[in-house]
Amino acid sequence: MIDWGKLAAERLTEIAKISEDGPGVTRLPFTREHADALALIEGWMRDAGLETHLDAAGTLVGRTSFTGASQTLYMGSHQDSVRHGGAYDGIMGVALPILALKKLSSEGKTLPFNVEILAFADEEGVRFPTALIGSRALAGTYDPAVLHLKDRDGISIDKAMRAFGLSPENIPKLKRNNNQALGFLEVHIEQGPMLQDEDLSLGVVTAICGIERHSVTFHGVSGHAGTLPMRNRQDALVGASKLIGSVHELALNTEHLRATVGALDISPNVVNSVPDEARLTVEMRAPDDAIRAEAAQKIEDQAKEIAEGHGLTISYDKTYAQPAQQCADSLTKPLSKAVEAQLGRTLALPSGATHDASAMADLGPMAMMFVRCKDGISHNPEEYAAPDDMGDAVHALASFIENLAKTV
Ligand SMILES: [Zn+2]
Repeated sequence: MIDWGKLAAERLTEIAKISEDGPGVTRLPFTREHADALALIEGWMRDAGLETHLDAAGTLVGRTSFTGASQTLYMGSHQDSVRHGGAYDGIMGVALPILALKKLSSEGKTLPFNVEILAFADEEGVRFPTALIGSRALAGTYDPAVLHLKDRDGISIDKAMRAFGLSPENIPKLKRNNNQALGFLEVHIEQGPMLQDEDLSLGVVTAICGIERHSVTFHGVSGHAGTLPMRNRQDALVGASKLIGSVHELALNTEHLRATVGALDISPNVVNSVPDEARLTVEMRAPDDAIRAEAAQKIEDQAKEIAEGHGLTISYDKTYAQPAQQCADSLTKPLSKAVEAQLGRTLALPSGATHDASAMADLGPMAMMFVRCKDGISHNPEEYAAPDDMGDAVHALASFIENLAKTV
């Protein structure tokens, strides 16, 4: 009997060594580390009986070859990491579904559809100021204009891909047929503490949160900190601080809403002057766009009210919005059933982070399974998923595939 969790841990430990120098894992797209990692992943894929090829976007594809099957289930995640990241983010979502297919094949199981395991080149967007090229290419939302974007050494994506042996002009041909896509399932480390709090190794994602970002500037009047009376001061930072408080309160009191003021700049930013300008960002995430839109409106209204109450003027801009992506019942039902069979119960939870699955949702049904993350720590060398939890995931993934086979 194979101990699937132990095998997963061994493989992830081995591939974690393929990294730039420094703490944790640093594996960026279209580098020597990327090529070395792909050689290892290709071995895992072949070991599971998959046919492999590297596509024009640098995605390593491992495919089953069940004859007569017209539909395809896609599974996978990204091979790259952030700088000084962990050994599980992304790559675990490549390793575990390969093991699930190895398990099914070792049991002599065949399927009425094919399965493609995808190891995407770049999800983190660390090297270039864009990401998700591989998943967008499959979903048909890839924009060739990104090829001109450069890394910090001035190397364009186009050049980096060519040096990696790819032909980026062929990326548009990678789009898959929507009608033949059963959907995409991504397994990912939770990157949060909810499963640990619930004492569960696995969870089923309900939706990937939508994101909205605002840029807010309070304008006031500066003056000498010692001579300007307190009454009638037009202190821009006092306005900003009240808004920070209300953003936090609103999210505390709104289920599934995350809201953060992550950046704050003030001027003149000196010890003995009243600030005349405070610029801050507000970021909101929610698995439901209606919740996010309502929160965004409340925050904007409050910001304007605060400005008025403090004699300030305000500039308020929405700088970014990305809608929430709902996970599809056609995949989450067989997945939840598989997780329940493995653990006796399941937890449904939203994903606060964006993933390859966000882009793959444009191809067809999308779902995600989370694996427990020690203390919620991720994007850090301390990131950890236990072998037993990964073993649960391999069993659940194999049952998910079998459950899905009964529905097609
Ligand atoms: Zn990731």
